[in-house]
Amino acid sequence: MSVMRSVLLAGSTNPWLRERATKAAFVRRSVRRFWPGERVEDALEAARALKGQGINTILTALGENLTHAEEAEEVTRHYLEVFDKVAAAGLDAHVSVKPTQLGLDLDRAMCERNLDRLLARADQRNNFLWIDMEYSRYVDPTLELFRRARAKSARIGIALQAYLYRTAQDVESLLPLGPAVRIVKGAYLEPPDLAYPKKSDVDENFYRLCVRLMSPEAQRAGALLHIATHDVPLAERLEAHAREHAVPASAYEFAMLYGIGVGQQRRLAAEGKRLRVLISYGAYWFPWYMRRLAERPANVWFVVKNLFG
Ligand SMILES: Cc1cc2nc3c(=O)[nH]c(=O)nc-3n(C[C@H](O)[C@H](O)[C@H](O)COP(=O)(O)OP(=O)(O)OC[C@H]3O[C@@H](n4cnc5c(N)ncnc54)[C@H](O)[C@@H]3O)c2cc1C
Repeated sequence: MSVMRSVLLAGSTNPWLRERATKAAFVRRSVRRFWPGERVEDALEAARALKGQGINTILTALGENLTHAEEAEEVTRHYLEVFDKVAAAGLDAHVSVKPTQLGLDLDRAMCERNLDRLLARADQRNNFLWIDMEYSRYVDPTLELFRRARAKSARIGIALQAYLYRTAQDVESLLPLGPAVRIVKGAYLEPPDLAYPKKSDVDENFYRLCVRLMSPEAQRAGALLHIATHDVPLAERLEAHAREHAVPASAYEFAMLYGIGVGQQRRLAAEGKRLRVLISYGAYWFPWYMRRLAERPANVWFVVKNLFG
């Protein structure tokens, strides 16, 4: 793993840096590239524009590791309204949440109740709820939340990270449920005893996990795969696999982040491929933004250019 990535990921949890960086105009200017704004209306507007290009969306309000139950309640109510606003706007926009936004660190039962409320609203609105995956210490409770919720409704999916050694096992254990799974490479700082340190190993594991989730067995169980990456060669390798093995188009979708790989997003949409773009909005953008910088060192130069721009 590059030194730059480690430094940026370590910085993402530093309160001193967060306090200063979020006030700096040049940092605020550079975040706009990946972020439509603070309000859900900003995200809905971005979703409307993408819909015009044939691209559906997933909305997520930034925030993580809350410290008060009232905040988790506020977040839950916010997302309940998001489902209503998406329906009113006539958009095909899913919602994605982080368990720690719903209070996982504070009280697991409360987090489960909050997730249940969101899933009930997703059902009511014919929509879909995704659970993001956070640091590795949250994988077990997040899988548990998913299993419980999946027993109540199929309108829920979970993100799994290809950098973790355990993920192949987790996919196997979820497969009988016919789950909706978003495979991502993984965005957090993890030690080498838990996560592949080499990027090429992460990429290969990503490929294997996706192939497994497109297998006939997964299809029979009713699995849905989200191939969530901006890695064009990897996405093309998976498309080739899907073609060769006659995997039905309904079995998988591509998923990308707002403002990243925009050329590839347009290409996929123009070819009629199923693509969802995840739009993050909200005021608490610092740790999320640092993870985006860590994914591509060139982004740091973009920030530096904004310092003088
Ligand atoms: C829809 C979606 C949902 C996600 N949900 C989660 C989650 O729940 N948990 C989690 O841990 N992670 C999540 N991630 C983030 C993911 O783990 C990776 O950190 C991120 O997608 C970068 O990896 P990559 O697959 O694009 O491949 P990489 O190999 O990192 O990048 C491939 C190419 O994409 C481009 N690129 C990638 N990132 C950037 C960037 N930030 N800025 C500009 N160009 C870039 C570059 O050209 C790069 O060469 C999600 C990603 C997506 C797309």
